[in-house]
Amino acid sequence: MIKVIELKNIKRYYRPAKEVVVRALRGIDLDMESGEFVSIMGPSGSGKSTLMNIIGCLDRPDEGTYFLDGIETSTSSQDAFAFIRNKKIGFVFQAFNLLARTTALENVELPLFYNRTDSKKSGKASRKMAEQVLNEVGLGDRMDHVPSQLSGGQQQRVAIARAMVNDPAFILADEPTGNLDTEMSMEIMTLFQELNNRGKTIIMVTHEPDLAVYSKRIVTLRDGELVSDMPVTNRRYAANDLANWKKEHELLSGISTSSMEERVPPRGERISPLGEMQ
Ligand code: ADP
Ligand code: MG
Repeated sequence: MIKVIELKNIKRYYRPAKEVVVRALRGIDLDMESGEFVSIMGPSGSGKSTLMNIIGCLDRPDEGTYFLDGIETSTSSQDAFAFIRNKKIGFVFQAFNLLARTTALENVELPLFYNRTDSKKSGKASRKMAEQVLNEVGLGDRMDHVPSQLSGGQQQRVAIARAMVNDPAFILADEPTGNLDTEMSMEIMTLFQELNNRGKTIIMVTHEPDLAVYSKRIVTLRDGELVSDMPVTNRRYAANDLANWKKEHELLSGISTSSMEERVPPRGERISPLGEMQ
């Protein structure tokens, strides 16, 4: 089976000033196969972002080799490097990074325009592909909405659709739920698990153990070294956790609603429908 990612003895040193060397990655060996769902963990400063940048072809190592889908990236030309990045990797960021005045559909279509090698491929075909992935992430009825008309969780789903539209070798997600509340985070993890079940390879950087248990394998970095690489034995299913969370939440909000109804305002107290606003 062809490996999606093959990192051999990857070293990356920063030289922020003369005679100062930060050894951000000190010789990383890491392989990933198609269909995996991997979490990359580690304390702040351990080298996660540096490794992400190399895996994402945004940066190159000082030493070592990186084969992506069988292609050696470290010796490729700038153009080839950029082409591999656009063609092979679907990025998902913490801050969504959608274009603000652009509909969900157009946001998802965008990578297809950058990547169009076959000029005969019509706009209609691109539109169809964008519609299809938006349906896959459950936003078939929100295609004409601009980001401000969508919840944070929906915006991140648009970003995931955009990441998938080129059918990349893997999705690379950097703290994908960092800007989301518990419910939306579980929705995104449910979606990742569904996509992974359908064969998508997912690599996710997170510092939350609660999220890593939704993946299948946890790789931990410390001081630029890979210190642990383990399968997830206590794997959880986000759809179940989400359903339970909703049940508990409804129960709680049910209690608070009824107790609010029971509360009779004392004479003279005005209850404003706008609350704090007035
Ligand atoms: P993490 O994402 O796990 O917090 P990073 O990969 O950002 O870790 O950083 C790894 C190490 O490299 C840290 O010591 C950090 O201070 C250093 N580092 C990161 N980027 C740079 C840079 N551009 N110049 C100098 N040092 C850097
Ligand atoms: Mg970081």
